[in-house]
Amino acid sequence: MSLLLFAKIAWAVGVVTWFVMRLPFQRKARRKAVADARHRNARDMTLLSISTLGLGIIPAIYALTGWPAGASYPLGALQVIAGVAVFAAALWLFWRTHRDLGQNWSVTLEIKDAHKLITNGVYARVRHPMYSAFFLWALAQALLLPNVVAGLAGLVGFGILFFFRVGREEAMMREAFGAEYDAYMARTKRIIPGLY
Ligand code: SAH
Repeated sequence: MSLLLFAKIAWAVGVVTWFVMRLPFQRKARRKAVADARHRNARDMTLLSISTLGLGIIPAIYALTGWPAGASYPLGALQVIAGVAVFAAALWLFWRTHRDLGQNWSVTLEIKDAHKLITNGVYARVRHPMYSAFFLWALAQALLLPNVVAGLAGLVGFGILFFFRVGREEAMMREAFGAEYDAYMARTKRIIPGLY
């Protein structure tokens, strides 16, 4: 097997593992009624589509067809090893965030019935560890796919979702949890412990 084929398969295995890992949490989270869905709007759906394009569709087209060929460059073994390690770290962090958030998790922005503010586990380190995990995934994609367009599509696509959503998510959480969320914000950063 060529190094390129191995790297593409490693990327695909990472994406499928993430998808399968999420299924039981999705089933459980769906059972919990939504109290406030005002933020689950066309804007949030558009951001989710952009993110899916960058983390899923564009890299899948590249992996299957090699398009856009002009943006490809030679791949090195160290880059592939780093990519596998970063994807493994992303999946581990996804697992932890789902376990900690439990039924309070949702794909779109919403507040559930009896929504609980989670500030323990990985949520004690940063306020948006699931978004940290998505950025790690996007970084792994950039390392595993030696194509400037397909590689960087994840960072751009998820970056757009993150920067256009995180402020609104925090405003929504402040509205729902008041002083409790203010205090949580005062002692934590967004996605990188101690930094940002
Ligand atoms: N931004 C978080 C959660 C992503 S899931 C992260 O990156 O880990 C998005 C949903 O999680 C939002 O609709 C919100 O209702 C919920 N949420 C976000 N932070 C939360 C927290 N600290 N405790 C409980 N629910 C939270």
